[in-house]
Amino acid sequence: MQPREYLVLAVANLAIVNWLSLVDKTFMWPQEHEVKQNFTDDGHQYDVAIVGGGVVGMALACSLARSPLTKHLKVAIIDSNPALGKRNCINKEDPPDPRVSTVTPATISFFKGDVPFVNSVVDFIVDYHFHWFDLLVYHYCPFQIEGHGDRCLTFPFLLFLHELDIGAWQYIQQHRHAYFDKMQVWDYTGLGYTRYNARDVNKEVLGCVVENKVLHSSLLSCLENTDFRKTIYPSRLTSMALLPSSSSMGVDSTLSTTALFTKGRLAKLELSDGKSLYAKLVVGADGGKSQVRELAGFKTTGWNYSQNAVICTVEHTEENRCAWQRFLPAGPIALLPIGDRFSNIVWTMNPKESSDCKTMNEDEFVKTVNHALDYGYGPHPKSSSSGGPDMFSWLRGDVTISANECFEVPPKVIKLASDRMVFPLSLKHANDYVSKRVVLIGDAAHTVHPLAGQGVNLGFGDSHTLSEVIAEGIAVGSDIGEVSLLRKYEAERKPANMMMMAALEVFQKAYSVDFGPLNILRAAAFNGAHYISPLKKSIISYASGEQKMPFSLPLFS
Ligand SMILES: Cc1cc2nc3c(=O)[nH]c(=O)nc-3n(C[C@H](O)[C@H](O)[C@H](O)COP(=O)(O)OP(=O)(O)OC[C@H]3O[C@@H](n4cnc5c(N)ncnc54)[C@H](O)[C@@H]3O)c2cc1C
Repeated sequence: MQPREYLVLAVANLAIVNWLSLVDKTFMWPQEHEVKQNFTDDGHQYDVAIVGGGVVGMALACSLARSPLTKHLKVAIIDSNPALGKRNCINKEDPPDPRVSTVTPATISFFKGDVPFVNSVVDFIVDYHFHWFDLLVYHYCPFQIEGHGDRCLTFPFLLFLHELDIGAWQYIQQHRHAYFDKMQVWDYTGLGYTRYNARDVNKEVLGCVVENKVLHSSLLSCLENTDFRKTIYPSRLTSMALLPSSSSMGVDSTLSTTALFTKGRLAKLELSDGKSLYAKLVVGADGGKSQVRELAGFKTTGWNYSQNAVICTVEHTEENRCAWQRFLPAGPIALLPIGDRFSNIVWTMNPKESSDCKTMNEDEFVKTVNHALDYGYGPHPKSSSSGGPDMFSWLRGDVTISANECFEVPPKVIKLASDRMVFPLSLKHANDYVSKRVVLIGDAAHTVHPLAGQGVNLGFGDSHTLSEVIAEGIAVGSDIGEVSLLRKYEAERKPANMMMMAALEVFQKAYSVDFGPLNILRAAAFNGAHYISPLKKSIISYASGEQKMPFSLPLFS
């Protein structure tokens, strides 16, 4: 929304609220703002328990910590990963870690932002009781809202808060990361290629490659620089219990933790170190083998690809500034810039080939990689100067900048710069994301093929939406573990995640078959994506996370 639209909504809201207050004389301002807990103070009782402090779980914690609506929540993070107990200990001089993520512009926006500024404005309004601003933010409501007394946040202010982001990008910028504004995709048949350029959609970047350890430590730094009431349990979840709700009527909030558990108002979690804790909402952010998903009885759909991904860091003589991906008969190989003169390789292949690649000597591996990215398996595609654009002139619309870019050979790899790691690949999707007091996010809800580098971006989308839904629940005074509230999260994220999974599946299948007519079709698809500008723009927007559906193609706009 534009600031002008917020203002219009704010003024409309103000008029309605003031009119109502004059009519029924119930309008009033509380004299003090204090954070109240709705329960007896028990050290082991939380509003939210996040099981899994990986990047997605940490992004949720940061998002809750930064929003004025949720920053008062008491949150537990459960994970035995020792990185959670460490302060920033990344040495810039070390070669990059082989585990990296390509983050989309939508994720970058989520990570950026000057939320402390917004918080201080809200605190100023609250502390100094500045009525005119107050009118834009709060109005009287007939029930108590945790952390906000008897005031409701106005609709425009709620919308404004929803668009806030978590402020972790400043920490990422202190470490190695690589923005890229160009991408080239082609296959081994030499029949076609597609180039993308951020300027095709008037943007500066298509994405940024960040080491996973940098993402994680940036989120941790972001969380540590707030006064958020979080407790980290360096342990693992072993069991979870939830009793049925005894009644739908309100429950006395001064009841003991055990009484609230007995009435189904809290879930009980038991940890591997013998500790236990209680929470209104349990978030399963514990990855592809989620224990929360298992214990809560969520069913999944999926399969193992008979493919592994070999990943490692490699070095060039010059800095690489483009993301490259070539589809080979056994699967795609990606060469992603990671900063300085390093790139990251994500190479999908069958299990036998992956174990050969892991064990072959370094020189041989470097030769194999260069072969796969250059003339290996087939010829280079012909460049656009060969007349390709004319084939599509009848539907291509305005010409994108990249449509005139020639095919390029990726920079040569000169050296292996890390260990080689092998990951088996699978697709898994939870049939449901929510049940009473339990919600799944990130890989716990969906594990996808890494061919388009979307997995963690989908997870960040989940964190963002879930924190908004929790904030909405707090704003209207509802129980944040209620399934009716959590369904709003599921309704937004499930279709978006399934759409991306389907698109990746089509790619994965289309490029894993070597069959003459299909090769021609694939070449047509490459050329179409290269020359048809509305199609290209739509692909870029969808892959950037800025457009929800891949098919809203304004083909003839
Ligand atoms: C080879 C490869 C390349 C990839 N490249 C990209 C890319 O370029 N871009 C992209 O967007 N995505 C990429 N992905 C996907 C991405 O890595 C995942 O989507 C992402 O790591 C998921 O994050 P998560 O926090 O949901 O889960 P995880 O990273 O798996 O974190 C789960 C956390 O939960 C903890 N945990 C597990 N069980 C328990 C328990 N019982 N109790 C407490 N804690 C527990 C673990 O210790 C861990 O810290 C790639 C994946 C692979 C395999």
